Amino acid sequence: MPNIAIHVASNLALLWIIRRFDRKAFDADAQGIVLAVFASHLIDLDHLLADPIYDPARCSITTHPLHHPVMWVLYTGLIFFKNRRVRYFGVALVLHLVLDALWCIR
Ligand SMILES: [Zn+2]
Repeated sequence: MPNIAIHVASNLALLWIIRRFDRKAFDADAQGIVLAVFASHLIDLDHLLADPIYDPARCSITTHPLHHPVMWVLYTGLIFFKNRRVRYFGVALVLHLVLDALWCIR
């Protein structure tokens, strides 16, 4: 779990990209899309299963169940849903995992 600010900044950047390139859908359901993107933070609830709950030196990808590489397949599958909330939720989850993975190789 890298700095929460990095995750929030990446969510804001993703929302900017969505608004820029899928403007019609964003304008029609801005609240739902913003909620879907920020709901990706719920993936970090699996930290509650770890002891200690937060350890900056720990790699989330290898230790937390919702961050497990198998889950990446599921989250990537969400990207192919027609429903835009589900699709952008999947994109945000994959982005979250990529940032966490980068945190692991630092
Ligand atoms: Zn995480």
